[in-house]
Amino acid sequence: MTTHDDPTWHPETLAVRAGYDPASAGNSAKPPITMTSTFAYASARQAKDIHEAYFHGTGPEVGKALHIYARLGHPNLDMVETRLAALDGAEAAAVFNSGMATHSAIVLAHLRPGDSVVFSRPIYGGTNFLLTNFMPGFGIHHAAFANGCDRTCIETAVEQALAQGPLKLIVIETPANPTGAMVDIALVVAIADEIGTRTGTRPLVVVDNTLLGPLMQRPIALGADLCMTSLTKYCGGHSDLLAGGVSGRADLIHALRLLRTTLGSHLDPYTSWLLLRSMETVHLRMERASDNARRVAETLRDHPKVAGIIYLGFLEEGSPERAVYDRQCSSAGSTFSFALHGGEAEAFRFLDALRLLSFAVSLGGSETLITHPATTTHYALSPDERAAGGITDATLRLSVGIEHGDDLIADIKRALETV
Ligand SMILES: *Cc1c(COP(=O)(O)O)cnc(C)c1O
Repeated sequence: MTTHDDPTWHPETLAVRAGYDPASAGNSAKPPITMTSTFAYASARQAKDIHEAYFHGTGPEVGKALHIYARLGHPNLDMVETRLAALDGAEAAAVFNSGMATHSAIVLAHLRPGDSVVFSRPIYGGTNFLLTNFMPGFGIHHAAFANGCDRTCIETAVEQALAQGPLKLIVIETPANPTGAMVDIALVVAIADEIGTRTGTRPLVVVDNTLLGPLMQRPIALGADLCMTSLTKYCGGHSDLLAGGVSGRADLIHALRLLRTTLGSHLDPYTSWLLLRSMETVHLRMERASDNARRVAETLRDHPKVAGIIYLGFLEEGSPERAVYDRQCSSAGSTFSFALHGGEAEAFRFLDALRLLSFAVSLGGSETLITHPATTTHYALSPDERAAGGITDATLRLSVGIEHGDDLIADIKRALETV
């Protein structure tokens, strides 16, 4: 008798098995794709019971995974949500059609006019726009901190936010992109608890876990309320789909699913199926990509044309960032940045000389990608804002993939010769 779900299994095993029971689909070893927009009820009574189960979580149909209409949920979405929750070590997960749809649902679910939100800097450009440009139009205040390993720095931002309105959310991204800035998740959770005791309202701690993903950093185990991941990146892993997910306590996730029904931002059956399949190999891809990244980082560090490199594996022993890294990350991942000597001209010569590496935004795919942040992802920022985020005209960001490391290093070394 085989089983498909056992909470004692390791994440690598859950990645292959959790969320799909072959007995549910005529014993097909792999799940079918259920391409339907609506679901036929067996009887009028059952229709009523299914709606009761969906909206109130009570009645005879609870836990039977029956469906109403695909925007509310469908079989392939259930599978991918169960698997993500298992990997994140959470009670439940909700999956959306992009990482930004996920971030948007979280803030719309928890912030009301007059409330405030605190976030870590630097933060993903889309998240930054959401919190500093879009939400203020709904009367939401914000404050940010730049040193996520320093209690005083975080508390200063928290007090700024509390002075403007009730603090409902603390959104952190760690490690941050492209600077590798670390935020101490357990410290932020402790600060949220203290605010709860003091004001009677405990803000939720949301961790954007995209850069390391479920296998290499476990925010829920560190006390985070919600673990958000752009599944477009390492979990999807092949640069061929967009998706986002959030995991946490069942009551928080249920509320997000209800809101998703209103926003219409569920993930469709085919993409859910692709993502479920990709999650089976996320640990293998991340391990290989991280090994390649270390080799590439060592090559760049020792190269005379390279002015500097920000790679988590090189964090200084004894520094606060290193202590946080050692506590909460099990790998340095495969996304990091480095700078050439010179400026834009040198960076452009290097980029145009590459043959194997692709010049494209995004990260976490099987192929190695490189970007020039100053003229692409961070184009809209002023030079001062870019400098504050550690980005110069000579900065390049790499997302190292799973090719053979020797080929990557040969391409990079050859292109460096042309600079
Ligand atoms: C890409 C990314 C997002 C947004 O995800 P999409 O799937 O592109 O919407 C959010 N946070 C981080 C850290 C990201 O890298």
